[in-house]
Amino acid sequence: MITVAILLNGQPIMARSAINTGKRELRGPAGKRRTLYSVDDGSTVAHDPDEGAVRLAIRLLETIKEPKDSPMNSPADQYTDETRLDWTRKCENCGQSPIVPITGLCEPCTFAVEREGTERERADRAEAELAESELRCESLRGSLAEVQANLEDAEKSLAEVQERP
Ligand SMILES: [Zn+2]
Repeated sequence: MITVAILLNGQPIMARSAINTGKRELRGPAGKRRTLYSVDDGSTVAHDPDEGAVRLAIRLLETIKEPKDSPMNSPADQYTDETRLDWTRKCENCGQSPIVPITGLCEPCTFAVEREGTERERADRAEAELAESELRCESLRGSLAEVQANLEDAEKSLAEVQERP
C-alpha cells in the first residue's frame, strides 16, 4: 500500500492510499499495460511501476478534490500561534512590527538570524575574536622579547669573539 498525505503545521489535512491490485489495464498508452492501483476513494489509477513511486504519489494527489473551505485557503491558519505575526509588539533587534512571537523578531530579522545570528550574537562573537587577538598579541610580544634577548646574547657573544686577539 502506498499513502500520500499533505500536512499543514504537522497536522494531516488530506491523504490518499492505494493498493496494487496486481491487475493490469487492458490497453495502455504506447502498448504498455500499466498496473492498476485501487485508491481509497473508490477510483482506480493506472501506473507503470517503471515510472517510480513519486509519479504514483503525484497521480494519487491528483485524485484529491480540494474542498472550497480547505485550510490552505485560510491565510490565518498558515501560521501556528507561535509563528502568527504579532503587530502589537516590536522587533527586539530593529524595532519594526510585526514580529514572529517565537523569535521576538520581525520577519526579516528572524530569517537574518538563521543566516548570521542576532546583532548581540555578532557583537559577542566580535568580542571573543578581539579577546583572542589580544591573547595572540600578548604571546607574540612574549616571543618578541625572547627573540630580542637571544639577539642581545648573540651580540654579546659576537663582541666577545671580536675582542679576542
Ligand atoms: Zn527586525
